[in-house]
Amino acid sequence: MNGMLVYLLFMVPPMLLALWAQARVKSSFAMAHGVRAASGLSGAETAAMVLEASGVSGVRIEESHGFLSDHYDPRHRVVRLSPQVYHGRSVAAAGIAAHEVGHAIQHAQHYLPLKLRNGVVPLAGIGSNAGIMLIFVGMLLGGVAGAAAGMPFWIMIAGIGLFSTVVLFQLINLPVEFDASARARRLLVNAGLVAEGQQAAAMNRVLSAAAMTYVAATVGAIATLLYYVFVIMSAQNSSRN
Ligand SMILES: [Zn+2]
Repeated sequence: MNGMLVYLLFMVPPMLLALWAQARVKSSFAMAHGVRAASGLSGAETAAMVLEASGVSGVRIEESHGFLSDHYDPRHRVVRLSPQVYHGRSVAAAGIAAHEVGHAIQHAQHYLPLKLRNGVVPLAGIGSNAGIMLIFVGMLLGGVAGAAAGMPFWIMIAGIGLFSTVVLFQLINLPVEFDASARARRLLVNAGLVAEGQQAAAMNRVLSAAAMTYVAATVGAIATLLYYVFVIMSAQNSSRN
């Protein structure tokens, strides 16, 4: 089969999924940013309140730069909220702020998937580049004819092994992200900061859309891995013939 066609078959569907997920985050955020939270609090105030209610101390809340740049920094124990979320008094701001606080709570409670994820981060950082590099080195050594037997084959297999740490990271990241959003929903609705019904529904749409971007990233990593496995296997088959 044509190499380019195979590449497109593996890579285009996950890319479309990622684009669709990102568009959904933007549209659901815009919608939910127009719905005021029952609490009347800003995202920063909501974060502080949820942290205190959860008995987590020593976590700072700061404003970050850039649209939807919200994240939790476990090294410095800082919840960083984008300007729209930090200052916003909408259910979108409350939901995202509480999601990031959810990560801080996971950290404080030594939530196992978070520990595993943080353990895999350095591996995946190396694996994503070094893995792909080894696969290409193996291909080059194997020659243009596609002779993928012997050492070049094992170099490519090592590359696959390294790159699979990226898939592992994405897979472990899913329960971490889903749990942070589940905590956010529970904490906000139970405390009455976000009212059930229309407010909670709008907030849930933002959180679900954000979760979908992580699913898309996982699908993308798996598709990339499968693509290289396919390339190596077909190179090996053609070297046998
Ligand atoms: Zn998160």
